Amino acid sequence: MIKITRFDEQIPTLLPVTHTLLKSANLTVHNKVTQITLHGSRGLAGCYHPDSDIDLSLIVDTENCTRMPELESLLQSVLKTTTKNWQSDIKLDLAVIFDVRGCGLKCFDQMAFDPQSCPHGGVECFGLYKRGNGFNGMVESAGVKVKLMYPCISIWKR
Ligand SMILES: [Zn+2]
Repeated sequence: MIKITRFDEQIPTLLPVTHTLLKSANLTVHNKVTQITLHGSRGLAGCYHPDSDIDLSLIVDTENCTRMPELESLLQSVLKTTTKNWQSDIKLDLAVIFDVRGCGLKCFDQMAFDPQSCPHGGVECFGLYKRGNGFNGMVESAGVKVKLMYPCISIWKR
């Protein structure tokens, strides 16, 4: 487990309120998490309300674990690690993301979507695992597009 105490250097200036929230919420990740990205209203969209939840994606290294059911159990444990350590009244909306076609998910490093940055144009190149808000576990690759994850900002990288 890794407790996140330091965020990307641009976060305190760009998103001061979200930064304070993140620092006080005991954000903790599974050892296989390589990067955390922030989406939606508490990220660059900047249109949050006092009770808005916070949308985070955990990017996970699944390189040595691509077969079911081992993969699903890893993703489940990644989700659980962060959820059970979260200490804030602000609700956490969490997605677990992993590379399925070897593009390295570099698009999640960018603040604006650029289809050129991915050999697959950012379409169906990542797997999504999520619970709540109508999601229950693994989301099939069909229809999964990096573009829909924007605005996106990387807040932590291993
Ligand atoms: Zn990609």
